[in-house]
Amino acid sequence: MSSAKSAGAGKDLTIIGGGMVGACLALALQDCARRAGWRIRLIEAQPLAAGQVQPSYDSRSTALSHGSRLLLERLGVWDRLTACVEPIRQIHVSDRGHPGVTRLYAEKERVPALGYVVENARLGEVLLGALDPQAVEWMAPARASSARAVPGGYSLDIETGESSQTVHTDLLVLADGGRSGLLDQLGVHREISPYGQTAIVTNITSAQGHGSVAYERFTESGPLALLPLAGQRSGLVWTLPEDQADDIAALPDREFLAALQQAFGFRIGALTRVGARTAYPLKLIEAQEQVRAHLVILGNAAHSLHPIAGQGFNLSLRDTVALADRLIAAQARQRPLGDLAVLQDYLDGQRADQRLTVAFSDYLTRLFSNRQPVLTLGRNLGLLGLDLLPPARRMFAKQAMGLKI
Ligand SMILES: Cc1cc2nc3c(=O)[nH]c(=O)nc-3n(C[C@H](O)[C@H](O)[C@H](O)COP(=O)(O)OP(=O)(O)OC[C@H]3O[C@@H](n4cnc5c(N)ncnc54)[C@H](O)[C@@H]3O)c2cc1C
Repeated sequence: MSSAKSAGAGKDLTIIGGGMVGACLALALQDCARRAGWRIRLIEAQPLAAGQVQPSYDSRSTALSHGSRLLLERLGVWDRLTACVEPIRQIHVSDRGHPGVTRLYAEKERVPALGYVVENARLGEVLLGALDPQAVEWMAPARASSARAVPGGYSLDIETGESSQTVHTDLLVLADGGRSGLLDQLGVHREISPYGQTAIVTNITSAQGHGSVAYERFTESGPLALLPLAGQRSGLVWTLPEDQADDIAALPDREFLAALQQAFGFRIGALTRVGARTAYPLKLIEAQEQVRAHLVILGNAAHSLHPIAGQGFNLSLRDTVALADRLIAAQARQRPLGDLAVLQDYLDGQRADQRLTVAFSDYLTRLFSNRQPVLTLGRNLGLLGLDLLPPARRMFAKQAMGLKI
């Protein structure tokens, strides 16, 4: 085992997790790191070489809000993403077997698109490709196996293949998706509320094509989203009760498409092809602490949401850019990395957004997962009302677009 010291007091930052969130933070800080002489380590358990897929960059697609587009422009990667994103010109929300339908249009909201869909693998390539190896030291595959608070920062054990090393860092950012066990080691409690649902994720092809419409359809067994992808393809997120999901995911392609067609209908014509299916058990998870001196918990590790409203990464990106802004501003005031007042200030600024976004996703999930007649009626009145009432629709659109209400 070897031991490494930090670059200088208050100048060493370590990000655990090179997923979408960890990579965005490194990207947002790399210019400042070059100027300020910071050392940024990005530790990722999976290989990060081009063409390799790791958890953040799997077969899923992500609906990026209009607000996320603006942030990705600030990070300097939007131009590289335009070739691989599909714009959402309309969002169509419906309830199977009931009359209520809500439609949101980009032109009515006066934006070029309500959002953009990108395949996670493409987003990963762009984010990792934009990192400057002079400013960000990648360690991949490398696993952070333990973390301890020590005077002035954290001490980390990092395992790379056969060898391991211990490093000191002034600011530790946990962007590990909450799966490394480090939160437990550090005694950070997480509130976990399982939804009893599983999301089946796959890509499908339809005869008619999606026409740049994103569909959100609420069915007896759970909500179903179809996001427009390049060509005739759509990204499917089909939420089902956990006791049915495995059986449906394992159906042969033809039977799977028939079951999906029955649940979704013919809005995009006949469904003709389906890709590999992956199942994700769904839970609302919230860390009870997000900052301590020398420590920040970010992304899914801080809050993991139901994918129904496509808000998880969008919220985490807003957190990430806000954190980077605070760290950069603090650097200009000669504050060291890890200063608790700076980290607390970041969290205070993001709390309202986090609460609203978590509540929005959770409320939609519970409302639309419930088959009680009174709620069904209320929700259909709600959908009709949204279609009729421009201010309510605009509010829904702004939340869905990731813009401040
Ligand atoms: C079905 C589904 C659909 C979704 N759709 C949308 C959407 O449309 N829009 C949206 O905004 N959000 C969406 N989300 C949410 C979005 O995927 C997450 O918010 C996002 O992936 C979180 O990224 P992350 O980097 O925080 O975590 P992760 O993606 O989990 O990445 C964590 C990384 O840390 C690494 N790691 C873990 N432990 C260690 C360790 N000990 N040492 C080193 N590295 C480690 C992992 O290998 C991984 O690469 C969806 C989620 C699901 C499940």
